[in-house]
Amino acid sequence: MSRTVYVNGQYLPEEDATVSIFDRGFLMADGVYEVTSVLDGKLLEFDGHLKRLERSLNELGMDKPEAFDGLLEIHRELVARNNVDQGGVYLQITRGAADRDFVFPKDAKPTLVMFTQSKPLLDTAASENGLKVIFLEDIRWGRRDIKTVQLLYPSMGKMMAKAEGCDDAWLVEDGFVTEGTSNNAYIVKDGKIITRDLSTDILHGITRASILKYAEEAQMVFEERPFTPEEAKEADEAFISSASTFVMPIVEIDGSTIGDGKPGATTQRLREIYIEESRKRAI
Ligand code: PLP
Repeated sequence: MSRTVYVNGQYLPEEDATVSIFDRGFLMADGVYEVTSVLDGKLLEFDGHLKRLERSLNELGMDKPEAFDGLLEIHRELVARNNVDQGGVYLQITRGAADRDFVFPKDAKPTLVMFTQSKPLLDTAASENGLKVIFLEDIRWGRRDIKTVQLLYPSMGKMMAKAEGCDDAWLVEDGFVTEGTSNNAYIVKDGKIITRDLSTDILHGITRASILKYAEEAQMVFEERPFTPEEAKEADEAFISSASTFVMPIVEIDGSTIGDGKPGATTQRLREIYIEESRKRAI
């Protein structure tokens, strides 16, 4: 069945939705995006995603689309029209369509595209069994704090992981893990949860921020610092976080089994807390 999607002010059947071939998102990856998860037909962490979107636009000197202040309503309308119970809403803003030039156009109107994806988020095989990751060199650009649509290397990273019988890759730069291809990376050692501190080296995950808050409330100990691939391989537990995976256990890193090869107790508790708390706050 065809979805209803949103393009520049219009709700359309997906097969009728189009964007110009001159759109700078298409020609130059000159665009930013957000993915907001939907649980029980409600939006998780909407305010966090909206704030980060605004920051991404500011950092790139990109104008807000006219509909910016109505984004919550558009999200809700798409969720309702497409009957989404579990899944997510994808939103992309580009600098708009203009004749091809490296220089930013003066008067292009930003393009705003949104669509929904229905998929199970709870009790999946991945959350029950855990994922396997490999290490790859982090060769992405230096502003990973901006959520741009330049996703070719993350996409290649997932393909390389798959080719090795794994699910995903953790990226390594200057001897330390930065993050996963599309998620933040964590290890647990001697009861302490360790994740890289915020900088331009990683995306400031909205899920990460909430996990830190909820973990503190639950008296769990967090340390924000870079960790090495060796530390990761010797960790008691490991996990990733993102809007669409919540807290997701990792059971194998670069061929080393983590713990007893099953999702760890701290990870599982954190996943439960995250789901419960974000569900309560969903709008
Ligand atoms: N890091 C990267 C590179 C990502 O692409 C993502 C999400 O897409 C994240 C981290 C997690 O961010 P969030 O929790 O806001 O989904």
